[in-house]
Amino acid sequence: MSRIPRIVILGAGYGGIVTAIRLQKELNYNEADVTLVNKHDYHYITTHLHMPAAGTDKPENARVDILKLIDEFKVDFVKSTVTQIRPHEKKVILEDGTLSYDYLVVGLGGEPETFGIPGLKEHALNIRSINSVRFIREHIEYQFAKYKREPDRKDYLTFVIGGAGFTGIEFIGELADRIPALCKEFDVDPELVKIYNIEAAPTALPGFDPELVAYAMDVLEKKGITFKIGTAIKECTPEGVLVAGDEFIKAGTIIWTGGIRGNHMLDEAGFETMRGRIKVSEFLRSPQFDNIYIVGDCSIVMNDEGRPFPPTAQIATQQGEVCAYNLIASIRNTEPKTFKFTNKGVVASLGKRQAIGVVGSRKLKGNTAAMMKKIVDMRYLYIIGGIPLVIRKGRF
Ligand code: FAD
Ligand code: NAD
Repeated sequence: MSRIPRIVILGAGYGGIVTAIRLQKELNYNEADVTLVNKHDYHYITTHLHMPAAGTDKPENARVDILKLIDEFKVDFVKSTVTQIRPHEKKVILEDGTLSYDYLVVGLGGEPETFGIPGLKEHALNIRSINSVRFIREHIEYQFAKYKREPDRKDYLTFVIGGAGFTGIEFIGELADRIPALCKEFDVDPELVKIYNIEAAPTALPGFDPELVAYAMDVLEKKGITFKIGTAIKECTPEGVLVAGDEFIKAGTIIWTGGIRGNHMLDEAGFETMRGRIKVSEFLRSPQFDNIYIVGDCSIVMNDEGRPFPPTAQIATQQGEVCAYNLIASIRNTEPKTFKFTNKGVVASLGKRQAIGVVGSRKLKGNTAAMMKKIVDMRYLYIIGGIPLVIRKGRF
């Protein structure tokens, strides 16, 4: 390759933005042309989205302008939507053009997995992006306003959250915190508001520490959440959800947090996937195309027991670092690095000043865990934007 190699990064989420930031730091002048493509001109802090969704924080606080994170002399930013990946032609089709590449990084994030459950795609809302959480917040407020015009429609004040994984649990914690303010604003009796968290598995947060799960459920039940555990959602309609046992729960709001899959474009492009995600090589490459790297929710990395690590911001960020290293190794013809995930712990919020977490061998709960959550958040801001970003966006 005599001309300057072209690296195209798709998606400025955790994996994509960290790859771009690392490349701009490490690459020498004229070593590569780097282009970052994202459908918005901002990066969003997905790990905060449960708050603006419930309305306990502003959407602006969960987003950062991409041009504040990248150096435009080193990385070209293209605000556009990717519509197709053509790996055999080394091309990416955008809504408004085409990009050719020598190396491609796919970091397009996940999409809601609905497991073919009828009506979920059409009638349930998802916590996925700034636009989706803005919609959810407005929708929730609208239900209160509608109830005031039609007081016999108590179902407007019923909220169903499908899935008690971390997204569902973090969201209900915030929603429960928001309800008193909404009831006050709309003159609604708080007793009329019902929040159901429905989980198919025999426990909330399947696979997580049982003592902390019990603590979380206790905190959330005291905030007014009703759990339906071991109860699968079978169908979703505009009026509510049908659950196992043929019970129909009428609800004005249905939010699906039942899991994610990879981006649909990967299947369409002919990659071998498992639920839209590509099982990457030890160097984070596609097993089919050596010049394509996959990071974040679009990728699968196996743990030592041969099971996939859960798709998280933590793993995506670490992948971004190694992906950039390996891209540079390819360009310089040096040895690539094997990706090894270092689990720094898991902390999940349960609303204001409440959280649970496992960090190393320590179990955390309550305010200590909530403070740890803030530290984790700030560490990420520091990684992508240094101290200035921590000061601007950190929620102290
Ligand atoms: P994402 O961060 O999803 O970003 C994908 C990017 O690609 C976005 O910028 C998007 O706009 C862009 N994009 C998508 N499609 C296109 C297209 N067609 N064209 C152009 N651009 C496109 N993980 C943790 O480790 N800790 C947590 O505390 C945590 N909390 C979470 C809370 C919530 C509410 C949610 C929903 C998830 C949470 N996660 C957490 C999971 C974590 O957010 C994801 O694993 C992580 O965001 C995945 O990063 P990614 O780089 O794959 O993609
Ligand atoms: P998830 O896959 O972790 O959880 C989905 C839950 O929905 C599961 O418990 C599943 O049993 C349940 N479910 C599936 N089908 C159902 C049905 N028909 N009816 C009722 N329940 C059903 O998805 P998530 O919570 O969106 O998390 C996605 C990823 O993001 C995970 O890797 C998670 O670890 C990560 N995340 C991490 C944090 C954190 O660390 N604080 C927060 C949010 C998300």
